[in-house]
Amino acid sequence: SIKLSDRLSAVKPSPTLAITARAAEMRAAGKDIIGLGAGEPDFDTPDHIKAAAIKAINDGFTKYTAVDGTPSLKQAVIDKFKNDNGLDYTLKQILVSSGGKQSFYNLAQALLNKGDEVIIPAPYWVSYPDIALLADAIPVIIKTTQAQNFKITPAQLRAAITDTTRLFVINSPSNPTGVAYSLDELQALAQVLLDFPNVIVATDDMYEHILWEKGSFVNILNACPELYSRTMVLNGVSKAYSMTGWRIGYAAGPEEIIAGMRKVQSQSTSNPTSISQVAAEEALRGDQSCIDTMLVEFKKRHDFVVDELNNIPGIECIKSDGTFYVFPNVEHLIAELDGINNDLDLAEFFIEHADVALVPGSAFGCPGHIRISIATSMENLQTALQRIKKAIT
Ligand code: PLP
Repeated sequence: SIKLSDRLSAVKPSPTLAITARAAEMRAAGKDIIGLGAGEPDFDTPDHIKAAAIKAINDGFTKYTAVDGTPSLKQAVIDKFKNDNGLDYTLKQILVSSGGKQSFYNLAQALLNKGDEVIIPAPYWVSYPDIALLADAIPVIIKTTQAQNFKITPAQLRAAITDTTRLFVINSPSNPTGVAYSLDELQALAQVLLDFPNVIVATDDMYEHILWEKGSFVNILNACPELYSRTMVLNGVSKAYSMTGWRIGYAAGPEEIIAGMRKVQSQSTSNPTSISQVAAEEALRGDQSCIDTMLVEFKKRHDFVVDELNNIPGIECIKSDGTFYVFPNVEHLIAELDGINNDLDLAEFFIEHADVALVPGSAFGCPGHIRISIATSMENLQTALQRIKKAIT
């Protein structure tokens, strides 16, 4: 047998992508599976964005670009940060990558040494710990519960920081919980971080626009501008503009870190797709009403699903502030069902006996829960919930 790298044995493939693939396989085999595992909006990419890409192809804009993105897209990103977030950046502080996932990967490769600790609040986006491991760093997980709305406290953050802490990751609104930190909560966390000047902060704002509670979006830099010189802001067009397949994410932060990330990218993927960059520029500069259309629909589905889940004995679901996920607690249900010992068993039970695919909370570092994606039609959600009810009674 062929021996692969030690590094590889420390990581696992993305569990969310695996569930989606499994559902697709079962569907191909003729099973009527409803997929509630998806991490992407079910809407089509808006027409004006597609048109910009088609024009780019017809104009012959199909060659290498600068590794870090075209100057005009980077300027659009700078303008976005200024207008939406009140944050000031120069061209050298921006890096455009092939998706938000690559932005975080570049950051980990540029920043982390063997043994460095990366603080990650759980439930977390599945890729943070594994991307840290691929950089030979150590993920340090802060656990949260539904009772604390899945948000870490300042005391938890302080207790997790050590001499080897290099990076703290915060994702709000959160995948998978859907909850967002308030300005006050972010200020309280920032207060702790101010005592530890060696810790770099990464705020993953990917779901910035998919937010219906708490007024407008805020991140930790809005809460504490003093952190500007050591904070990386990660964002992208995937979720807000239903552009997951186009693969465009962007990062902003200190020039030295961005330069390091650019170097990593220059020796791995080079520039993100030229055509996608033109589309992303149109997404950022063009009509923003497509976001509202999606948001209205997500909110409607969210309200329906949360109500229905809370009517099922053994399931308890808090409201999301945004995103297209809900993250119910299913501990009581697990206790009630014969032969089901944990959330992994329960997810397996739902796919086998309810023809519904969803992701167990363990994948996000939070057993006893499941993640339900509402990025599917209302009709699918209704049927899925009926099937779930039927399967457990
Ligand atoms: N960050 C979070 C919290 C996410 O949920 C995702 C996608 O699932 C990403 C980043 C990466 O998005 P992409 O690489 O598709 O741009």
